[in-house]
Amino acid sequence: MRDATATQARLLAWYDTHARVMPWRVGPADRAAGVRPDPYRVWLSEVMLQQTTVAAVRGYFRRFTDLWPTVADLAAAPDAQLMAEWAGLGYYARARNLLACARAVVADHGGRFPQTEAGLRALPGVGPYTAAAVAAIAFDEPAVVVDGNVERVMARLFAVETPLPAARADLRRLAGTLTPRHRPGDHAQAVMDLGATICTPRKPVCALCPVSADCAARDMGLAADLPRKAPRAARPERQGTVWAALRADGAWLLETRPARGLLGGMPGFPGDGWDGAGGPEPLPAPWAEAGEVRHIFTHFHLRLRVLAARVEPTAEPRRGRFRPPDEVRPDDLPTLMRKAHDLALGELSSR
Ligand code: SF4
Repeated sequence: MRDATATQARLLAWYDTHARVMPWRVGPADRAAGVRPDPYRVWLSEVMLQQTTVAAVRGYFRRFTDLWPTVADLAAAPDAQLMAEWAGLGYYARARNLLACARAVVADHGGRFPQTEAGLRALPGVGPYTAAAVAAIAFDEPAVVVDGNVERVMARLFAVETPLPAARADLRRLAGTLTPRHRPGDHAQAVMDLGATICTPRKPVCALCPVSADCAARDMGLAADLPRKAPRAARPERQGTVWAALRADGAWLLETRPARGLLGGMPGFPGDGWDGAGGPEPLPAPWAEAGEVRHIFTHFHLRLRVLAARVEPTAEPRRGRFRPPDEVRPDDLPTLMRKAHDLALGELSSR
């Protein structure tokens, strides 16, 4: 890296003409004209974008902001409705944290988000990345915003060859040296956009890069090799079973999953304990094999056997409750359970 000020200027000039248009973003022209980002929309988008692509988030963001235009509206949302709207986005702890945070902003801060990184960090469920991103983007605080995209850009600009995760503290420090006091919010978004569109993981397009003249990895012919990563341990595999029981009125037997843990707080079919919670079959029924769902969680691969049965209206389950379609729609189920639902329905419809 030659001159941090010159690099910052090149990044911002590039952002001024190439910023991605996103429904939660105040673009550089509007920002220059004095339009302020809405901290609620910035926060909501940052929570949704964790572990999730921009393309997947767009529709959810629009729907959430239509249903709940302000943080006070979101804070007043019934838990079950919010969890149902979140279904399909994954990492369900985020949805529970979203509600807890919105309620804390209303109860403890009069409905206004704290304006500093430290104040945001004190909110429930707000981690260091989200606090820094909201502080920078919504309040133009020169917070150091570091996610996977930023780590990659820093590893390349500064040719850091230490593998991740050991390099993490160094990459954060380097990101700090590049964070300007002028327009820090646009700077953070410029680095995010660079990482997402040009300095991409496998094939960085250095020929189009606004900071290629400053990039040590490019000079050394290492761009596509960085950041290096320590080999990951292979994910173990778990196997399990769920029982999908359907009544003639279209009600499925569902349980609300424990608030903490995998798919916490979401509805799901009773299982045999693959997730640390569960037990024997929930009721006697003519169970038939509906197939197997494969799903990847952060720490393991899951092979989930799905058993399906039609049951009598008088059936009395030992666990869970029959939920009619106007109470829980298939789309309200988390992705894993929706896949199980589709298999079970296919099996039961083919008879
Ligand atoms: Fe990334 Fe290439 Fe730009 Fe360096 S020159 S920051 S490797 S896109």
